[in-house]
Amino acid sequence: MDKIYDVVIIGAGVTGCAIARELSRYKLSVLLTDKENDISCGASRANSAIIHAGYDPEPGSLMAQLNVDGNRMTGDICEKLNVPFKRIGALVLAFNDEDMETVEKLYRNGVANGVPGVEIIGREKLRELEPNVSENAVGALLSPSAGIINPWEYTIALAENAVENGAEYKLRFETASITRESGVDGASIFTLTSAKDETVKARCIINAAGVHSEEIARLGLFGEDVELGFRTIPSKGQYFLLDKTQGTLFSRVMFQCPSKVGKGVLVSPTVHGNLIVGPDAVDVDDPDNTCTTSDALAFIRKTASLTTDTVSYRDNIRNFSGIRPNTDRGDFVIEPSPVEARFINSAGIKSPGLSSAPAIAVKVAELVKESGIELAEKESFVETREVVRFRELDNEERAKLVAEHPEFGRIICRCETITEGEILAAIHSPITPLSLDAVKRRCGAGLGRCQGGFCGPRVLEFLVRELGISPNDVLKDLDGSWIVKLRDDETTN
Ligand SMILES: Cc1cc2nc3c(=O)[nH]c(=O)nc-3n(C[C@H](O)[C@H](O)[C@H](O)COP(=O)(O)OP(=O)(O)OC[C@H]3O[C@@H](n4cnc5c(N)ncnc54)[C@H](O)[C@@H]3O)c2cc1C
Repeated sequence: MDKIYDVVIIGAGVTGCAIARELSRYKLSVLLTDKENDISCGASRANSAIIHAGYDPEPGSLMAQLNVDGNRMTGDICEKLNVPFKRIGALVLAFNDEDMETVEKLYRNGVANGVPGVEIIGREKLRELEPNVSENAVGALLSPSAGIINPWEYTIALAENAVENGAEYKLRFETASITRESGVDGASIFTLTSAKDETVKARCIINAAGVHSEEIARLGLFGEDVELGFRTIPSKGQYFLLDKTQGTLFSRVMFQCPSKVGKGVLVSPTVHGNLIVGPDAVDVDDPDNTCTTSDALAFIRKTASLTTDTVSYRDNIRNFSGIRPNTDRGDFVIEPSPVEARFINSAGIKSPGLSSAPAIAVKVAELVKESGIELAEKESFVETREVVRFRELDNEERAKLVAEHPEFGRIICRCETITEGEILAAIHSPITPLSLDAVKRRCGAGLGRCQGGFCGPRVLEFLVRELGISPNDVLKDLDGSWIVKLRDDETTN
């Protein structure tokens, strides 16, 4: 008979992975699924990477509460899971009287939402804090609790910790349909069927499918004629990622005033020391098309020049885009399906979803409990994760490590100083990477100025050697992104 999981999570973005980790505290069988070949392939890998302070959401909204709680929880989780996170603070710039009114409204929101330390500052203090800011900025909201993070490393760390604590995972499982039947206790048993006709069974389903969460939520109505209560409006945001030469321009996240469509174009250091500029916000029909366009990038560059005209775009190393799962609800949708208490939607998790993830996970766990599934704590829960980062060690520590494990003495990614030892650790980590980008997301090889131009072929070799696969099977990123094609008579040896 097929195993029946207590909980199956659809979607391994930051929401699904935070939920998996939270549920792995309890004596439950949990399966984390995703349609892609790795964790964090949706919005969770392509965003501004800011842990927002929580002054944007309207007081009283779910977003306000979960953002502020999530922001507070993120520091502790990152410390335990060894994820780079810097609480550098943020400024929302005002360029005129109208902007100043917005800044005052954000300040009032911040106070009402319980954001620590928010204050309004004038031109002089602003220039003292950030000398490269444009002369045109007349004041700002200062919010010290905002931070910057590596979003995909965070997401993978949450998933790895869940797996270390007994959760299982199944990638390349695209939920296409869901049926229900009555179990022995009268409660439903769900069968999820994938696009490739595989099945898994669950007593409880959590929908964390990001921009596809409306489709999954509709499957959770089981054909009954009831209103879902929200509709997704995907919105694309594009970015410039600049070399580390630009990374010291500002010490804080520099926002402009938000508008109806989003938090506006920001200029910010990244946690790796680069500079990020973007995003725009444009509603799109295709929720999966993450191409970038020259028009959007030109718009971003022009808008960012209001904040500063000192960015050298010659030092751009990558452009990318992410799709926000905005909805017509205007708030997160975290609630059971109207027809099944054990089909829990965590849908429409737009910004500040990254910031709110740990608090969303706690809320979803409460809904699981309310649905009648027992949450008995495991004594064996391990809440920490060890990671070796060669570049962060001092010379003595490096020498000791290399003496014990010579593979840490071979630098493979010269831009980011990533050793063979770190790449091998990534390949043998709890969730096996199958692509160059999956290795990059775990240890940073290929993240730097050359974007894997030099280390990419070496990482491919390691994947082939360590996993015993053919070079033909190594991908750059998502399924279909093959890198090499050997002739039929050719082998790698
Ligand atoms: C441009 C942009 C900027 C942002 N900036 C910030 C920011 O600075 N700070 C912040 O807090 N938030 C930010 N956000 C929001 C944040 O990125 C999201 O809220 C968060 O990543 C959502 O996570 P998720 O897990 O819900 O969705 P995703 O990360 O999209 O994960 C959903 C997963 O579901 C999978 N999936 C979909 N359909 C199926 C299916 N049928 N079967 C199986 N799997 C499926 C997908 O493959 C995907 O992996 C930003 C978002 C964007 C797009």
